[in-house]
Amino acid sequence: MLLIDAHSEGITKSPLKKMGWWASDTAHLHFDEVRVPVSHLLGQENAGFKVIMNNFNMERFWLGAIAYGYALVCYEEALEWAQQRKTFGKRLIDHQVVRHKLVDMATQLTATRALLEDTAYRMGKKELQGSELIAQISMLKNVATRTMQFCADAAVQTLGGMGFMRGMKSERIYREVKVNMIGGGAEEIMKDLISKQLQY
Ligand SMILES: Cc1cc2nc3c(=O)[nH]c(=O)nc-3n(C[C@H](O)[C@H](O)[C@H](O)COP(=O)(O)OP(=O)(O)OC[C@H]3O[C@@H](n4cnc5c(N)ncnc54)[C@H](O)[C@@H]3O)c2cc1C
Repeated sequence: MLLIDAHSEGITKSPLKKMGWWASDTAHLHFDEVRVPVSHLLGQENAGFKVIMNNFNMERFWLGAIAYGYALVCYEEALEWAQQRKTFGKRLIDHQVVRHKLVDMATQLTATRALLEDTAYRMGKKELQGSELIAQISMLKNVATRTMQFCADAAVQTLGGMGFMRGMKSERIYREVKVNMIGGGAEEIMKDLISKQLQY
């Protein structure tokens, strides 16, 4: 693993336009005969993959926590809207169909929070660490990002036309779903990793 000065000669960057994650710059990087001082080696030579893999466990855990947080914001926005907006003489929340949508969101949030807290507990206990925990962290990433996807979709739907408008939290979160499901290890790759860790 090498630390490379982004201003080194031979590096070119082409910025990319993205669906979301606008606060984080993402570019295509091209390296052409870039010279790297020996002192910029991080850890041991040829052991970079292990460093990245170790980092991934924590990254996938916090991606799970972030996805849960985003999902919660969607639920809260949808609930508040449903309590205020009136259609056909009733508040949205007085329609059973809308209440059920909110209940489905709350149910997925509760299950995700339980998994998140259990994973955090196990990560803090040395004796519980190992391949099962690595599998659980990957499960958490998949479950939490699915919950985020479900809640973002349900919230935008509950907000109706307003859900399509820039300025609503759920509209922004809807555009952040895919990077969480793909970045840090896509769902399919997580499942492959889980099956390996569980020695199928
Ligand atoms: C905005 C953004 C920021 C990012 N930032 C970083 C960063 O800071 N650092 C970093 O290292 N990476 C970063 N990434 C990269 C990210 O981790 C990858 O995009 C992600 O891991 C998926 O890899 P890929 O894009 O090469 O897709 P591919 O590997 O081409 O996969 C495409 C699809 O095929 C599926 N697939 C691939 N192989 C298999 C297989 N063997 N079996 C079944 N299905 C498979 C994938 O699951 C996916 O659905 C970023 C990505 C984005 C979009």
